[in-house]
Amino acid sequence: MADGKSFLIDTTKCFACRSCQVACKQWNELPAEDPVPTNRGSYENPPDLSASCWVKIQFKETERSDESLAWTFVRNSCRHCIDAPCKQAAENPDSITIDEQTGAVLFGEGTASESYSKIRLACPFDIPRQGAGGQLFKCVMCYDRVHNDEVPACAKACPSDAIEFGDRDEILSMADARLEAVKADGFPDAVILDRRDVRLLVLLADEASLYSLHTRD
Ligand code: SF4
Ligand code: SF4
Repeated sequence: MADGKSFLIDTTKCFACRSCQVACKQWNELPAEDPVPTNRGSYENPPDLSASCWVKIQFKETERSDESLAWTFVRNSCRHCIDAPCKQAAENPDSITIDEQTGAVLFGEGTASESYSKIRLACPFDIPRQGAGGQLFKCVMCYDRVHNDEVPACAKACPSDAIEFGDRDEILSMADARLEAVKADGFPDAVILDRRDVRLLVLLADEASLYSLHTRD
């Protein structure tokens, strides 16, 4: 299934307000991080995804090859892979399901009986996190909102249109048009990550090494 829904995360429009993180917690009734994270000398917070943090903005300060400063922000969350490696790794095919309407990859209570290390290792983006009861958690695409013709809470909350959500074919067209616009705007290295394989498309203006991209490796 490659129709359904998709996100476009346009990092050129993100200014790291983290409204998306808060909206995700509010809509999904996720508790505050426990223990409360301490100040690590960065506005980036919390330090990692968790069973109760499904969306996180990753910060990175570094230098470009011309020695100019780069301060970048990029979202980390489930990409809702088209052929989800986490699902392929599951022993019980019912513990990880694909929502028919949206294509969202959903972790059910049955993930408590799966091998956490096996499922987490299968994810190319190191996304799954285990809750206290053993169940695994991550972004659910706010599929309950989408079934009621609403966009996910993060997209609703974003004040700068850095998160677009809609039918996959429309999002792909939008992503291609934005990519061309960003390139023409002076960023020839702009790229859309994993365009064919995921439902959460990330547009980077600069070379990927300048971003804190979260991967298994
Ligand atoms: S990003 Fe990871 S957890 Fe999400 S669908 Fe892909 S493999 Fe599964
Ligand atoms: S709400 Fe929008 S601008 Fe704010 S951190 Fe999230 S993606 Fe970036």
